[in-house]
Amino acid sequence: MLEESKYYFNKAAEVLELQTLGRKILETPFRVVKVEIVTDADDGTFNHHIGFRVQHDNSRGPMKGGLRYHPSVDEYEAEALASLMTWKTAVVNIPYGGAKGGVNCDPEKLSEKELHDITRTFVGHIKEVIGPKLDIPAPDVNTNAKIMGWIMDEYSQHYGFSPGVVTGKPLHLFGSEGREEATGRGVMIALEHALKDKKMSFEGLRVAVQGFGNVGSHASRLIAEKGAKIVAVGDHKGGVQNPEGLDVEKLGEWVKKNRTVAGFDGGDAFESTEVLTWDCDVLIPAALGGVLTKENAKDVRAKIVVEAANGPTTPEADEIFFKKDILVIPDILANAGGVTVSYFEWAQNIQQFRWELERIKNELYQTMTKAYNDVADIAKSKNVDMRTAAFVLGIGRVARATMSRTHMSSAQFDEY
Ligand code: NAD
Repeated sequence: MLEESKYYFNKAAEVLELQTLGRKILETPFRVVKVEIVTDADDGTFNHHIGFRVQHDNSRGPMKGGLRYHPSVDEYEAEALASLMTWKTAVVNIPYGGAKGGVNCDPEKLSEKELHDITRTFVGHIKEVIGPKLDIPAPDVNTNAKIMGWIMDEYSQHYGFSPGVVTGKPLHLFGSEGREEATGRGVMIALEHALKDKKMSFEGLRVAVQGFGNVGSHASRLIAEKGAKIVAVGDHKGGVQNPEGLDVEKLGEWVKKNRTVAGFDGGDAFESTEVLTWDCDVLIPAALGGVLTKENAKDVRAKIVVEAANGPTTPEADEIFFKKDILVIPDILANAGGVTVSYFEWAQNIQQFRWELERIKNELYQTMTKAYNDVADIAKSKNVDMRTAAFVLGIGRVARATMSRTHMSSAQFDEY
């Protein structure tokens, strides 16, 4: 994933005519933290895991990004995802830099008590480098509001009441209205604008979704509410399809109990990976990175791909989509709704003030719409695809902030 994120960075850096030193300064992470986590296991032995926090850039504000609990977590994945956060927060123009991290573990094999202990120990080891003005974690794959609550509590035991240290907290523990569904809502808003560009509409639109966790489930629900049909959903255990459209509410209830879409009786089962090449108008990858590759991209039948997941498309697949005139709404735009409402949550926490849901929805809509239009304008004026345009917008804003905080002039930045 790191190679891929560097490829997209360099493609945009060419458009921006950034020279070697400028690229190096923007690409290199500010700080990489790796910690050992040893905790009690339920069977009387010990659990041993490695945790990471990569802080990529803080020129535009405190660093921001999710924590992932998954066997794929390592320093390279975290670095790639942290850099994506830097460009993403800049694309939606919120006052943050980028970070990412997590624990290399398989939560399916851990009890809630074990996850709780791992989380507290992890926070204990990284507490000096996170904080409301430093670096503010949030949920990502296999982490949720409950885990964010534990993080707030552990940090507050060391530094005093600090709800602003983490976002995505439970609503009754200084969380924000609308945060849980925010990434899915942002995906729906990005799709609304993409449909306008393609002269298509939600009515009767056939949508296939990979992943039915936080992002996939809320995106599916909100898109179905607009009149689209969710015709296929695949996750880590299986797939379920219904050409008439799945009942997304019922599927959500099933997944809450069974932690997979597999076995849902409101449709027919299929092999999960087939969801990516499903006969549909819109494909929404909302699971893990690197799933759209040169092997399967040529078989993708959707006209629009909305990247709800981070880094789902490899550069080879991206090239194939461009040639096939498939419109790709890139992750750093499409899934930016989550970090945007995280920003609203943090703003409420530091002001000790509450916003109503309607205000959150309106401000999210305006932020996503402005970002979409800014990216589309660059795509048009520079004659590049939406991903390159989004990177140009994000990197350009970070480069300008970096220069303004140092004695580097734009000429110096460009010359090296
Ligand atoms: P989640 O843990 O709630 O859900 C993950 C989903 O992916 C589950 O349905 C799981 O079954 C599925 N999945 C896992 N491995 C799979 C595989 N091999 N094949 C098919 N499906 C698989 O996670 P989430 O928070 O919904 O995050 C999903 C994606 O969205 C990630 O890429 C994440 O980085 C990105 N994202 C999340 C947020 C957020 O606010 N949660 C914000 C921006 C981006």
